[in-house]
Amino acid sequence: MDDNRRMWADLGIDLEAHDGLLEVLPPLFQDVYLSQKGRPSRMAYFDNVFAEIHGLRVRELVNHRKAGGVVVGTFCTYVPEELIIAAGGIAVGLCGGAEIAPEEVGRYLPQNICPLIRSSLGFKLAKVCPYYESCDLLVGETTCDGKKKFFEILGELQPVHVMELPQRKGPRDVDMWRGEVGDLLTRLEELTGRKVERQALAGAVKVVNTKRKALLRLAELRKSDPPVISGLDALLVNQIAFYDDPRRLAVKVNELCDELEKRVDSGKSAGVSARPRVLVSGCPMAIPNWKLYGIIETSGAVVAMDELCTGIRYFRNLVDEEPDDLDGMLDAIATRYLKTDCAVFTPNEERVRNVLGLAKDYDVDAVIYHTLQFCDPYSVEGFKVERALEEAGLPMLYLETDYGTGDVGQLKTRVEALFEMVVA
Ligand code: SF4
Ligand code: SF4
Repeated sequence: MDDNRRMWADLGIDLEAHDGLLEVLPPLFQDVYLSQKGRPSRMAYFDNVFAEIHGLRVRELVNHRKAGGVVVGTFCTYVPEELIIAAGGIAVGLCGGAEIAPEEVGRYLPQNICPLIRSSLGFKLAKVCPYYESCDLLVGETTCDGKKKFFEILGELQPVHVMELPQRKGPRDVDMWRGEVGDLLTRLEELTGRKVERQALAGAVKVVNTKRKALLRLAELRKSDPPVISGLDALLVNQIAFYDDPRRLAVKVNELCDELEKRVDSGKSAGVSARPRVLVSGCPMAIPNWKLYGIIETSGAVVAMDELCTGIRYFRNLVDEEPDDLDGMLDAIATRYLKTDCAVFTPNEERVRNVLGLAKDYDVDAVIYHTLQFCDPYSVEGFKVERALEEAGLPMLYLETDYGTGDVGQLKTRVEALFEMVVA
């Protein structure tokens, strides 16, 4: 048995099912990613992180735990990574982006639940995710109804802490959320048996802000026309940011940006079409969900920006680094996270404004609105977004899809029709 297999077996992974998963991923990656032309050479780091998705990074988690650290799994951009890092933990995003173990999932969840939730449960039930099995604690949140109930199921299988997220952003909601941030810190302190000190939290705030600044720098470079990086490559970077070491990731994203800046100066573009430029907006796309980006960029367009949690929603806002006492830092963290404009909030006018702002800043020709099947918050909010875009004179294509490949032909036809219309 090689070292990785021994590690997976020790984590309780179902090796046979896991082998099946590892057989599917490399050809998919080859097909979607490695077949692209004109990729920046610095994408090699991210390709390797993906190739080693269940190898090197998992070994880092295992070694971290052996050294007395903890690993905490999350499913949403509302969970403050700073608290986990300050408590001596590693945060890993666990949202699933592929259909897995549908029959076992069907024993717990009805068919009409969004594929992200079904997949996230599937990876746990099938015992094929070494990240799940490395976690000392999972942190959920009361965002949409499906997720709330999913965390009850998950709580029967692994320790779960649920943060109560308000649905509005008024003064009472802010206070409640600040309490939830404090409760998570307490839970993490109980888990590790150590108090989080001021310096540790200040350091963690800097680490996560540095990661966000690097991702923002990359986002800024995507304004270039012709594009210096494909939307697919930017999506991969954003997806990897949820589970890679944040300090190393920031360094690697900055190295990629250095290369892209040279491309801007020399006029060298990525091997994707310069126009139409598209803003993708809506539900997140967890690894390995690259379906829609693949369709868009093989249909003669470029994804110039992503209004998604696997996009700018994850890193747009920084935590204020001014406060120097623990309470003030927790206030700043709570404030920053509550700015996130997920469709689960009501009212959510700031998201509509943000979509319009991104469409303008990235000079896009069209918006493709992505909702995962059975996602009420994003599908309903889509109508408001469409109305605002219509008033701004921008076309929007609403697409609802899942993790299957059965609708690829139909999606491609609709996307191509949109592009024909905008270039006419
Ligand atoms: S879309 Fe909303 S619920 Fe989903 S990860 Fe983002 S913030 Fe969380
Ligand atoms: S995609 Fe929609 S339904 Fe699915 S977890 Fe996110 S908010 Fe909930």
